[in-house]
Amino acid sequence: MIHTPRPPEPVKVKANRAEWTNRWKKAGPKKDWATKSAKETLRDALRPMTHGKCAFCEALLDVTSHFEIEHFIRKTEKDLTFEWSNLFPACAKCNGEKRDLDHDGTLIKPDIDDPELFFWVHPEGALEPHPRLSGPDLDRARRTIAAYGLQRGALRGKRQEAWVRIGGWKRRGLDAAERDDFLKPEAEFKLVLRQMLTIDGHHELAQEDRARFERRTAA
Ligand SMILES: [Zn+2]
Repeated sequence: MIHTPRPPEPVKVKANRAEWTNRWKKAGPKKDWATKSAKETLRDALRPMTHGKCAFCEALLDVTSHFEIEHFIRKTEKDLTFEWSNLFPACAKCNGEKRDLDHDGTLIKPDIDDPELFFWVHPEGALEPHPRLSGPDLDRARRTIAAYGLQRGALRGKRQEAWVRIGGWKRRGLDAAERDDFLKPEAEFKLVLRQMLTIDGHHELAQEDRARFERRTAA
């Protein structure tokens, strides 16, 4: 998970929000929370926010796992179900793990928080709370890892592969010809990349990666 600034609410979402919310409020228990076309509109609106990746595990969406819409505060809170600030692009795995967990807003929220301060990746792909954390922040990190199943085996394997790939690039002297492969915003598992670059003192490259992902002008 990395910081994913939220773009302004798209016009198409804003224009339909009240109608979608009313439909959901009146819906019987067997009704889905949104129509197919509403979900499609929301997916299109959310996709650019994370450059087509899951906001929680950083895996590319619709490649091996379906693109779902995650409600940070669960959708039984019907007034928040179409609230732009409550929605994230997520894979079916992360979304399915969290389900309708009631966390009272205590989980790490990647558009507000900086997940790089909360998590630590190990070379074998394990994800843990950042070693500097204590108290409530440590608790938030632990709860977030558990809520989205961020320690699941397949994901650990993917992060380990990223570690090996980035390690190879480092051994090749961070060859400039390969830079774009690693720093392009669509590349998966940037938490691993940034941590590995930072450990070795390549702060400017980690910073460039953040700027490109967050569409800021590199300093
Ligand atoms: Zn995910």
